Amino acid sequence: MPDTTTPDTITSDIKSKREEILNRMAEAARRAERSADETALVAISKVQPDARIAAMLETGQKVFGENRVQEAQTRWGKTFASQRDGLELRLVGPLQSNKTQDAVDLFDVIETVDREKLLKTLAKAREASETFPRLFVQVNTGEESQKSGVAPKDVLGFIKKMREEYKLTPEGLMCIPPLKEAPSPHFWLLNKLAAKVGVDKLSMGMSADFETAIEMGATSVRVGSALFGERDYS
Ligand SMILES: *Cc1c(COP(=O)(O)O)cnc(C)c1O
Repeated sequence: MPDTTTPDTITSDIKSKREEILNRMAEAARRAERSADETALVAISKVQPDARIAAMLETGQKVFGENRVQEAQTRWGKTFASQRDGLELRLVGPLQSNKTQDAVDLFDVIETVDREKLLKTLAKAREASETFPRLFVQVNTGEESQKSGVAPKDVLGFIKKMREEYKLTPEGLMCIPPLKEAPSPHFWLLNKLAAKVGVDKLSMGMSADFETAIEMGATSVRVGSALFGERDYS
């Protein structure tokens, strides 16, 4: 089929996708007897073409997530720099410690704090910075060797260290459940861990499972492909 896509059709397509997701989020909240405004929609814009992001901005979407610092710098520091004001940008991908200052300068929230090295570089960056992002600790709920995140059994100790030794305040926890497992037990575990360490934000749920995450207490869901369309990595 020839590609007859025009900016207008992109705009209406993105608008209807977003409305559908917001409706499904509201339904999930209702089932869980939660209020719809307890869960924020984070639009994961990584790899997406500029036209789709422009269309998403037109809908009034304010919260965006990225998984790579450099890509985010280009997108939000250059391409869409004029629209950066009033947005909330979240880093949801792994942070290399040598990129800490760049991440602190660009993001409003870093969701992937996961090791002591980062606590050190974050504490140092805070001294050098006028503004400082809110922080989430990533938990490797599936204890997968290839995935980053603090192991569930280490979360209490890690957060104690974060607070006492580095004077950094975690706002919440974040997880990415294993691809091939039912997500509910992982969301449930994250919820329990958050209560145990005394934080009240939970970043969990993506395109395939955001409704389940809302039923299990998510305060933000990270939705990419269901909101923008599939990512083209070619
Ligand atoms: C890419 C990504 C998402 C969004 O994934 P979709 O399945 O496209 O919704 C969410 N969270 C993280 C950490 C990601 O890297």
